Amino acid sequence: MRKAEQFISDTEKISTNKEHYSVMQAYGDRYMVSHQTAKKQFQNLNLARERAAYAKWKVTENLDKYLIEFESAIIRKGGKVLWADDAQIALQEIEGLVKKYNAQKIVKGKSMLSDEIGLNAYLRDKGYQVQETDLGEYIIDEAGERPYHMVMPAMHKKTAEIAYLLNEKTTTALDADAEHITADVRQTLRPVFTAADMAITGANFLIADSGLVGITENEGNIRLSLAFAKVHVVVAGIDKLIPSLADIDLFFSLLATYGTGQQLTGYNTVVGPKTSNEIDGPAEFIVLLVDNGRSNLLAQHDQRQALGCIKCGACHQVCPVFHQIGGHAYGVSTNGPIGAVTAQYLSNHDEHKHLSFASPLCGKCTDICPVKIDIHNHLTRNRRDTTQKNLIKNSEKLMWYSWKKFMLSRKNMNKGQTIKSLMIKGFFKSSWGNDRLFPTLAEKSFNQLWRERFGQ
Ligand code: SF4
Repeated sequence: MRKAEQFISDTEKISTNKEHYSVMQAYGDRYMVSHQTAKKQFQNLNLARERAAYAKWKVTENLDKYLIEFESAIIRKGGKVLWADDAQIALQEIEGLVKKYNAQKIVKGKSMLSDEIGLNAYLRDKGYQVQETDLGEYIIDEAGERPYHMVMPAMHKKTAEIAYLLNEKTTTALDADAEHITADVRQTLRPVFTAADMAITGANFLIADSGLVGITENEGNIRLSLAFAKVHVVVAGIDKLIPSLADIDLFFSLLATYGTGQQLTGYNTVVGPKTSNEIDGPAEFIVLLVDNGRSNLLAQHDQRQALGCIKCGACHQVCPVFHQIGGHAYGVSTNGPIGAVTAQYLSNHDEHKHLSFASPLCGKCTDICPVKIDIHNHLTRNRRDTTQKNLIKNSEKLMWYSWKKFMLSRKNMNKGQTIKSLMIKGFFKSSWGNDRLFPTLAEKSFNQLWRERFGQ
């Protein structure tokens, strides 16, 4: 099945699931309450957002320079930098590191990129033990699913569902509440941390001028991973750069405010190669910089601003489409409004172009974005590009041509309600679905009412 057809089939099912919608709505409501409170920490929020947007724009426009600056700084400090053009090369590079350091047991911190390249499945197929250590990632890994949201990967799961899932694998009771589930997972993971040979983490920010990596988390699992593993591999997209260490306080607090509605997340770590006066921490520090389509997005003059995304997931929280269809239906790792913008550049354009059309363009995503990405207008630019590249099917073109003809006919518009309803229902038969009520058309058209009232 083509991705677009799969999308329609998946969304038709999930969008009529009232339970799912109420979970998503409740999550969104709770998020907004804490987000509104956290925002108050900024004396001038707009200025903070302008500064962050400018920093990310500067990096995007000069990506080659900042990447080299970052690599040089890491090497000067005794770390290593590897580069991967695509997912396959990234996987091979990581496998090479695993073999080189004879790492049989690997602990992982949350990383959207590792989902994007399919890292867990790849390493497990080769016989390595890979353990997710972030609670949300642990849950969805156990469920055999992909993350639902870039910050809250298991947001769609109810507590009872999680307890049922973990009951088979841990000591979790079927009626366990969130607190007990967390305690059980902590106990299960404790020996895994202490036995780990290698820690693989993502990066929230790659700091160009100092060759450091900023990682933010709420559970302390990444810090614990780095306390025992001898090798730390950071897997990050080339879009994760910020110019300077002086920017990190702004980005950490913006990410917390817009990601989880906190003033600051629980643990904010700035990490790099081990220095001679440090007595603990991994002896080896390697950063794998992954392109995997990001250069392609960079080449899109009008849409490259999307590379500035700091992956806070706020645009998802306000998006009516995301609330309705959830994260999995998008079929890509970075989903939601920003995923709809980037998917077609990060992978096959033709396969994911439909995502840009799955939006009412209400602009709520753009309004909330902490780095002021013009999300909904980028969606329209994507639509424009799809049309200009002639990627629209002939059958669809014919359908819209007929629609236009129908709508431009005064005779059709002035037909009676019953006949008009029949015609429109027939026209939208395949796309309207069976679970939505068709709107009732007015008995008379505006034109008819006008004539009746004013006689013209
Ligand atoms: S596009 Fe903006 S709001 Fe959406 S995830 Fe990225 S930074 Fe957050």
